[in-house]
Amino acid sequence: MASSLSRSASHGSPAAASPTPTPSLLRRFSPDFCALAALRPIRPAASSAKSPRDTTTSTEQEQQLAAPCRGACEEPPPSPSASSTMDAPDSAALRVGIIGFGNFGQFIAGGIQRQGHAVLATSRSDYSDYCAAHGIRFFRSLEALCEEQPDVLLVCSSILSTESVVRAIPLAKLRPDTIVADVLSVKQFPRNLLLEILPPEFGIVCTHPMFGPESGKHGWRNLPFVYDKVRVAEEGAQKAKCDRFLSIFEQEGCRMVEMSCAEHDRHAAGSQFITHTIGRVLAQLNLQSTPINTKGYETLLQLTENTVSDSFDLYYGLFMYNVNATEQMDKLDRAFEKVKQMLYGRLHGVLRKQIVERVPMPGAPLLGSREAKDSPAASREEMKHLSPRVADVPSPCHTFSPVAFSTVKC
Ligand code: NAP
Repeated sequence: MASSLSRSASHGSPAAASPTPTPSLLRRFSPDFCALAALRPIRPAASSAKSPRDTTTSTEQEQQLAAPCRGACEEPPPSPSASSTMDAPDSAALRVGIIGFGNFGQFIAGGIQRQGHAVLATSRSDYSDYCAAHGIRFFRSLEALCEEQPDVLLVCSSILSTESVVRAIPLAKLRPDTIVADVLSVKQFPRNLLLEILPPEFGIVCTHPMFGPESGKHGWRNLPFVYDKVRVAEEGAQKAKCDRFLSIFEQEGCRMVEMSCAEHDRHAAGSQFITHTIGRVLAQLNLQSTPINTKGYETLLQLTENTVSDSFDLYYGLFMYNVNATEQMDKLDRAFEKVKQMLYGRLHGVLRKQIVERVPMPGAPLLGSREAKDSPAASREEMKHLSPRVADVPSPCHTFSPVAFSTVKC
């Protein structure tokens, strides 16, 4: 693990390797919905401000890196997991600044604190009471949080608002070796956005904890944590900070999966997006528990509940900001049609042959013949021979009319 975590991030990715990142195709061809949302005012770009390089000396940086956590370490740090193989260059706590302190921001803050690191938070809404109760410093503005110069800035805002949120970061207030990480459930979009906006000195780590407040409420053990070290300097404090940040999730027991953002989005569209879509469809059926629930049905009820507990913004983000989602939606559509066709097609095929084409079935009396007319029971028997599927369909009180696919009540 240690070696995999310390691996350089620019692997196999031309944009990541290049000091001037390639523009994001997604951004170029996607409508900018964020621009329509009610958002923080966009702050001036970093280029017009004082260079982040000038803000601190390297000695100051080391002191800040080694500083004990302030205000957020009320819970005793847990002992490191025995199974961990992660290098720990030093044991200093990180200061992690969370932007977007909603459902997921609060959830992930818990794990960061359990590992003995300090959490600073800011959000569009006021979470100062929650933060006060949980030993977290809450800042009413992103500027105020950045003035604290956290080691890691963790973007936990909705996918839809991320572009505006990231553009509002006052980069000049941060130290140049700051790591900007994100937890978005899509990965190519934030990767390209961060490469485009952040100065080259800033580290970029794109992550997706593949769990949330519901699925991770009993702990994070064995839950997948996907990460891509998009840009991390091999030398200096940045690499150590990155390793320490990732070790939070390893020590919590997550299954660490290093994967490119593009590969993540391919897998996630075929798994997570499908799951959310099925959950959303089931929610439209307003399913209720019954006295005879099967295990399978219980699973569907649970899926529905889990899905709708996430915001619709999140679901829409999974669709809009993953280039593979539309294809999956189309596949799902076709799959549903195929299943319907398999059901109705079998029955209709047999009946149409008889009714329209007047094709006699081997061993069966001609429909409309005296035998068939005179003996409904005999006719039903014969239908069984025609096709076992046909025989399965009517109840004992129904019989097929040769004239049309209708039933006659007893
Ligand atoms: P969400 O609806 O995706 O995001 C809510 C967060 O976004 C809140 O912090 C909210 O701030 C902020 N936000 C929304 N609109 C905003 C705007 N216009 N300007 C500024 N901030 C805005 O729900 P979530 O479950 O908390 O997810 C947060 C992030 O975590 C998402 O990127 C999601 O993909 C990722 N994630 C979620 C899960 C999960 O299970 N929920 C799992 C893995 C990753 P306020 O609360 O202050 O309004």
